Amino acid sequence: MSALQIPSFAIPTLAIAGTSDRFPVRRVFCVGRNYPWQAQGASSASPREPLTYFMKPADAIVAAQGTIAYPPQTSDFCHEIEFVVAIGLDGASIEPAAVLSHVWGYAVGLDLTRRDLQAQAKKGGQSWEAAKAFDASAPCSALLPVATLGHPRAGAIWLSVNGVERQRAAVADLIWPVQDIISAISHSVVLKAGDLIFTGTPSGVAALEPGDVVRGGVEGIADFTLTIGSRPPPEGA
Ligand code: MN
Repeated sequence: MSALQIPSFAIPTLAIAGTSDRFPVRRVFCVGRNYPWQAQGASSASPREPLTYFMKPADAIVAAQGTIAYPPQTSDFCHEIEFVVAIGLDGASIEPAAVLSHVWGYAVGLDLTRRDLQAQAKKGGQSWEAAKAFDASAPCSALLPVATLGHPRAGAIWLSVNGVERQRAAVADLIWPVQDIISAISHSVVLKAGDLIFTGTPSGVAALEPGDVVRGGVEGIADFTLTIGSRPPPEGA
């Protein structure tokens, strides 16, 4: 048997509510815009855009608690509160009617974003990784298993900073609902047990500052409180 030429490393894991067991994280899919960001009248008037997604590395997942580092190379570090789905069963080309058997549980997380780098990337037609896939860019609550929670869809998703609410919407308002997201991604790649899907954020995204206390949740599923750490020293200092 061949030997590993560098030391192996731990698989990132998420806490599971009510147990000391953990959920191993394989990949992190993040859906692009997926809530109506302004009152648009009858949303049925125009067909929805095709589903778009990007990735974060599995070790971008950290517990949504304690202090989260303010990352380097940004002065526009933004919150995006998102409903998170955990996949527990492999599947390819899953039809919407069959997807729920592939869901292991639900959580709430943050798609943290270096918005200034994202704006630069959009302008230059460049990739989003520096804006989206940095260290600790995906704080996530403990997972709630379907076995105890079922498949809730009725709650509000919300986020506040220093006690002032900035984001609120209904999970039921998702343009691409959970079943459709899972089906669409599974037609793009083989979904695997351990994959997480961040389902998009409602309006109200804004910048965070060192010392901010961030609370977020999905009613009936999970909530969290964390604090933003101090700015890193300037490079070259
Ligand atoms: Mn997002």
